[in-house]
Amino acid sequence: MNFDFDVVVIGSGPAGGIAAFHTATAGLKTALFEKEMLPRRKVCAGGVVRRAINLLPEDFSYPVESTCDTLELRMHNPETTFQESRDGLITMVSRVDFDYALTKHAEKHGAEIHDGTAVKSVTPFDDYVKIDTETRSYTTRYLILAEGANARISNKFWKDDRLLVTALESEVFLPEEKLREFKGVARFDFDIITSGYAWIFPKKDHINIGLGAFPQGKKTNINKVFDEYKAMNGITDAYEEKNRRGYIIPITPRKESYMKQRMLLVGDAAGFADPITAEGFTYAFKSGIEAAKAIVNGSDPSEVSKLYHEGIDLEVTQELNAVTKLSKPFYFSKRLRGVLFRRYGARMCKGMVDLLEGKRSYVGALNKHSFIARLIRSIKV
Ligand SMILES: Cc1cc2nc3c(=O)[nH]c(=O)nc-3n(C[C@H](O)[C@H](O)[C@H](O)COP(=O)(O)OP(=O)(O)OC[C@H]3O[C@@H](n4cnc5c(N)ncnc54)[C@H](O)[C@@H]3O)c2cc1C
Repeated sequence: MNFDFDVVVIGSGPAGGIAAFHTATAGLKTALFEKEMLPRRKVCAGGVVRRAINLLPEDFSYPVESTCDTLELRMHNPETTFQESRDGLITMVSRVDFDYALTKHAEKHGAEIHDGTAVKSVTPFDDYVKIDTETRSYTTRYLILAEGANARISNKFWKDDRLLVTALESEVFLPEEKLREFKGVARFDFDIITSGYAWIFPKKDHINIGLGAFPQGKKTNINKVFDEYKAMNGITDAYEEKNRRGYIIPITPRKESYMKQRMLLVGDAAGFADPITAEGFTYAFKSGIEAAKAIVNGSDPSEVSKLYHEGIDLEVTQELNAVTKLSKPFYFSKRLRGVLFRRYGARMCKGMVDLLEGKRSYVGALNKHSFIARLIRSIKV
């Protein structure tokens, strides 16, 4: 039986774009379906860290809004600030432009792009998967589910045990002299919102400002906290604010396997974002690349599954599972956070920068510094 495609990818975010690029480049007949018309918006601060940049194709170029060489961690109770700088640490992009550039790059390498085409349902069979859109059906040997946090289709086949954090962000347009206050520094503020953090990321002509927090027992008026954070930074109503929007970030991996029948889960749909920083690009790229490689090199679904799980084991699933253990006490225990920052703030900031550069891992850090693991275990959340 002939199928329409070797690979269908659902979703044109970083996970889907990079997966489609790699399968198409390897000569597989690839189609990418995106429900929105491209270019499309995505709620995201658009900070792409160095270790994620390192995973991009060599011949891929994309519009850069600004570069932050410095990471700043600010504690507000008590007031303490730590900074660490490295060249090109975080590249600030607009998701509208970045995701579109990556999708066009996949198209240039042979992928068929179907934008404005929502996949309504999928049906897996032994030899292929059937994809239904509003207008017609397609068949494919393998399906990559890169549909993001909402994961409507993935949730029909996988139990949704991902932990979802809520985040709110907006863009505030500033005159050059005010923007200069924020230039070159990616800033994270703790003790602004309970069990989470606030951030300010400088872009070309505006700042992206936001808050993210673990789900909480008691209701928090996140918009009020957001306004207070703006005021604290001298961002008055005189400056134009656009696109205040909230969304979810899945920060713990699903517990089941990441491939079922001929369907592979990648990126946010799989729950692959960092539970400490909520950074999603690195794991979206890594899982998209490994899913593509597994399909290219595997001779049948069981080999594809084996290759995919081996590919993401160390750098995605082990890493995220290790950091999940760290994140809850870190965010839920003010006391532990205080102790960590007071005693090891400068080291933690440097360690975080090493991590964002790809020079160290959470698993490596926990193995090396067993005192962190011991300290975490000793404090009751
Ligand atoms: C407020 C906020 C700020 C963030 N800031 C950062 C940051 O600075 N740095 C960072 O690394 N990460 C950040 N993240 C996380 C990051 O945005 C995600 O981890 C990342 O986008 C995941 O990529 P993805 O490809 O898995 O999914 P997405 O980027 O969400 O892409 C999924 C795509 O699938 C499409 N789709 C869904 N269903 C269908 C369907 N049925 N048919 C066709 N198409 C479909 C969607 O329209 C979408 O285009 C942030 C997240 C939030 C919410």
